Amino acid sequence: MIRYVTYARYSSEQQSRCSIPDQQRKCREYGAREGWHEVRAYEDEAVSGVGSDRVGLERLMSAACSPLRDFDVILVDDTSRLSRSLPDVVMLHQRLTHHGVRVIAVSQGIDTEHEQSEVLIAMHGITDSLYVKELAKKTHRGLEGKFLNGLSAGGRCFGYASIPAEGGGVRWVTNEVEVEIVREIFELSAAGFSLKAIAGILNERKIAPPQKRADRPHPTWCPSAIREILRRELYIGKRIWNQRKYVKTPGTNKRVSRPRPQSEWKVQDVPELRIVGDELWMRVQKRQNLLKEVYAESGRKPVNRASSSAYLFSGFLKCASCGANLIIVSGGGKGARYGCPQHWNRKACSNRITVRSKDVEARLLAGLQDEVLSDHVVDTVVERALQAIRKKDATSQGEARIRELDGEIKKLVSAILKVEDSDNLLNALKEREAERRELKAAKASGTQLTEEGIRSSVREALSDIAGLLKKAPEQAKAKLSEHLKEIQMIPQANGSYLAAGEWDLLGVRGPVMVAGAGFEPATFGL
Ligand SMILES: [Zn+2]
Repeated sequence: MIRYVTYARYSSEQQSRCSIPDQQRKCREYGAREGWHEVRAYEDEAVSGVGSDRVGLERLMSAACSPLRDFDVILVDDTSRLSRSLPDVVMLHQRLTHHGVRVIAVSQGIDTEHEQSEVLIAMHGITDSLYVKELAKKTHRGLEGKFLNGLSAGGRCFGYASIPAEGGGVRWVTNEVEVEIVREIFELSAAGFSLKAIAGILNERKIAPPQKRADRPHPTWCPSAIREILRRELYIGKRIWNQRKYVKTPGTNKRVSRPRPQSEWKVQDVPELRIVGDELWMRVQKRQNLLKEVYAESGRKPVNRASSSAYLFSGFLKCASCGANLIIVSGGGKGARYGCPQHWNRKACSNRITVRSKDVEARLLAGLQDEVLSDHVVDTVVERALQAIRKKDATSQGEARIRELDGEIKKLVSAILKVEDSDNLLNALKEREAERRELKAAKASGTQLTEEGIRSSVREALSDIAGLLKKAPEQAKAKLSEHLKEIQMIPQANGSYLAAGEWDLLGVRGPVMVAGAGFEPATFGL
């Protein structure tokens, strides 16, 4: 039976208070899946520094390096829990490997038993900021913890107000004014009104829409908000967690949403939050499904945000006139065109220019690749990676220390031969021999971290992004969102757009500007 311990660390720079239990839960889920036995849990609360204030880690390390060690594996959420500093992580890893302790970072899938783990650990430290996925996963986990505790998993939901819950956090109660509007929306839909018609009715009556957002100067109802409401199971007293996953663009409110498999959903009954009766709900769902079939048969696609999410730049392109995200407003596949939803769905913005997604994507990608994947940027990133590695300095300094130890060992051996009571000398000799062994082992396992190895790994990671950008837009979007905040689409008098934005790669920044020459002018409109 394999025995494991967990190590969790909460740091003020990272997410919520639930953090330590959430990390432990993830580790235990992993241990349980493997059928392993938990020995104990180590943790450090709210310490961001290094050294003596990380008592939990120190205890863990001394237990791990002790001859009386009573576990085989250390499970951590990810390597950054051990330390935020790459050289420290590498050093800890080498010490543990030396003592035969296996470390598994459950969220990253790094297992020190695998050959490439050291390179993975180093790469992870270096390219951390290349991947937005991790951040999203961590936030998600924090929210999942809250959900499991019955607290509001964040956000606002039309029809409800959040009030402080006992013991911290917030919980939802129904908001009587909004409850009436939710019921009216369901009744209008059941009576045959379209999404667009319902949005129009509510806008005409100047009813406040679900979310007021700072970057949307025209808060109005839109068809997709109506559709969202008509599909929300919470209105029949069911809370479903984990239906979709969101990748948030750092520093903005933009999120990209994707569905999760039903097996990952978690459902909770909350009868006190029910707003709509089963009979009305079923009538509306039947009608919505029927519409879906009609659309499918006619080959027309209902135009909405979700259908445009497969397009590489959806969520990044902003209408420079009103601040809305451009979405696919017409066509599908190769003929899909981006346009301002405030104009096309609600007539609330004067920008009626549309542009083929294919053209925007080709031109912006070419612009990005020229800028981001230039030798200069790649070299800067590689240099940063190498700096982190050099700090570790294992090879050069270790070499000198080994020579020094060889000299001392020689002297000690000859001293031991000369004196009789040599216990102290023997201990000194043992100590130096142990240190020498450790350095040798560190050196041996560190050989994978050569400059050239790192250089090619970083290049590979970067060119991988370039490849993904072309082949798999869904995955590429997550990565793109780490480097690109937004692209302002500025309507030009000749019916084309000027695209302007800024990219950021590990803190190396630059502008990307694509003139509208290649964008085909709008050929249709009102
Ligand atoms: Zn607009």
